[in-house]
Amino acid sequence: MTTTLPQPAADRRDGPEPMLAGEKSDGQLALVKLFAIVPLLALVAAVPFAWGWGLGWVDVGLALFFYTFTCLGVTVGFHRYFTHGSFKAKRGLRVALAVVGSMAMQGPVVGWVADHRRHHAYADKEGDPHSPWLFGTGPVALAKGFWHAHMGWMFEREQTNAVRFAPDLLADRDIRRVDRLFPVLTVATLVVPAVLGGLITMSWWGAVTAFFWASLVRVALLHHVTWSVNSICHMIGDRPYEARDKSANFWPLAIASMGESWHNSHHADPTCARHGVRRGQLDISARLIWVFEKLGWVYRVRWPKPERLAAKLKAPARDHA
Ligand SMILES: [Zn+2]
Ligand SMILES: [Zn+2]
Repeated sequence: MTTTLPQPAADRRDGPEPMLAGEKSDGQLALVKLFAIVPLLALVAAVPFAWGWGLGWVDVGLALFFYTFTCLGVTVGFHRYFTHGSFKAKRGLRVALAVVGSMAMQGPVVGWVADHRRHHAYADKEGDPHSPWLFGTGPVALAKGFWHAHMGWMFEREQTNAVRFAPDLLADRDIRRVDRLFPVLTVATLVVPAVLGGLITMSWWGAVTAFFWASLVRVALLHHVTWSVNSICHMIGDRPYEARDKSANFWPLAIASMGESWHNSHHADPTCARHGVRRGQLDISARLIWVFEKLGWVYRVRWPKPERLAAKLKAPARDHA
């Protein structure tokens, strides 16, 4: 079954660069499926393990460390820095953020940024690579929409045109190099936890369990948390701010997503370095940017401006604020 979405009128006006560029090959498509499904199966298989043998504190510690490390690579690096430019970073940190974000196995940096900029440009309209609302609002359409927004969109052949959506990254030699190194970084993110597990426990079994928990399960969990921002956070939650789309704040994912589930606030003010802008809204990524700023590694951070936020509050919420 194929759905051909008509190109939005805005796209035709936008100058010479088309929205899409070529198609994914069979090999590329197979790899996306492999990386999306194999870690998920690992996660399901993990449940009985939790009550028996094969899980120890070293595995838990390594899994937590690599989850936090690579999650922040995506949230602070790929998302807030490379996609939205919510701060400036010194060259060393810039390259490091591209490397660590790549270790989340969510695709190379340039493609990730291009897809996400396209998401904001067309949020919940035709042209959005992963809106849950493209099929309608009935229960069947929404189930289909959820699947599409969560994982299904990656199985489409269309590729976002990076020349149009991420020319700044393509113009940077260091970033292009990190982008090309994605296969190596993928191997590294899977192998390093296993090596550490083996060395810490001085056993092959320690390497096997660390590979299982801190490589496969950790990658799978982070995949699903990230994808939930695309699916759940465009379907369910609070919408205190005016946004042109269906983005919502979904508090249960605030810690696991390190602040990214304050997604309505993010769509209302995309370049802001903090997404959890209201009182009590935990945003671990914003805290790390704050630490980087204190260390002098980042500068010109776009912290939230109270007057900007107040102007974006929806009328009833504004009255009660
Ligand atoms: Zn969104
Ligand atoms: Zn964004």
